[in-house]
Amino acid sequence: MKIRNIAILLAAIIIGNRSFATIHVVTTTQDTRSITEIIGGNKVSVFSIATGFQNPHFVDPKPSYIIKLSTADMYVTLGLDLEAGWSPSLLTSSRNVKIQKGNDAYVDASIGVPLMQVPSSINRAEGDIHAFGNPHYWLDPMNGKIIARNICNGLEKVSPENKDYFEANLKTFNETIDSKLKAWNAAMAPFKGTKIIAYHNEWVYFETRFSLHIVDFMEPKPGIPPTPSQLVKIMKEIKENNIKVIITSPYFSTSSSDVVSKQTGAKAIVMATSVGAFDSIKTYYDLFDYDIKQLTAALK
Ligand SMILES: [Zn+2]
Repeated sequence: MKIRNIAILLAAIIIGNRSFATIHVVTTTQDTRSITEIIGGNKVSVFSIATGFQNPHFVDPKPSYIIKLSTADMYVTLGLDLEAGWSPSLLTSSRNVKIQKGNDAYVDASIGVPLMQVPSSINRAEGDIHAFGNPHYWLDPMNGKIIARNICNGLEKVSPENKDYFEANLKTFNETIDSKLKAWNAAMAPFKGTKIIAYHNEWVYFETRFSLHIVDFMEPKPGIPPTPSQLVKIMKEIKENNIKVIITSPYFSTSSSDVVSKQTGAKAIVMATSVGAFDSIKTYYDLFDYDIKQLTAALK
């Protein structure tokens, strides 16, 4: 009897430890970090490789990231070719088998996202960095729900004993997005169809969700810096369409948008493309609160 009791006690301790052990997650960006923290709650500790004010296409792959990845229980990538220049080599160098592509602890957040601007053929000519479709899909809050589902599935594979907890957090996340979206839609409603200019082609999901019309980009092609001929074209478009706002991101030089702004009178505003782009943006919800506040203020 005594031995049986000890065995039961030991089993309880092991199971107990498993459900209390922190799940170490590495994400490529702060947006998937925020969503992982919301779904994983007190079961997870999350490290994001990119900061919120860094261009996610171009991140310097530091050795310290390899160390983080080598001990990670789960890895979350935004996928497509967003992080193609830096994340695959970090993942390989980590030698952590379970987080490699195809394994349970590798989460591709883009699975099931209805992609936009998917080219009919993959063409990297002229430096196109959106070869598999536009990878900036997290900028539609409804896609946030798909990302959250993918992250939840990953957490449930890594830690099945906490399934009910993750599902409850996912439900709360989805309900919060639904209720916040009502407010965001209401704030954006007066600006339906408004024409704007953007620096990089990273707003198509946001544009579509909130019925804006991005006429052109400062970059002649994604990843190619503005050229004089492109700026001339942009200035003409701004005048012809009476465009009031140019949206840019924290990681782009303001020199060309300043020139265009001065020449045309259109306001150049810096919007956040990720959680952490500015101090006040602590969560995925804050990202849209911030951007919608900035944009509506500029368009008024
Ligand atoms: Zn891009």
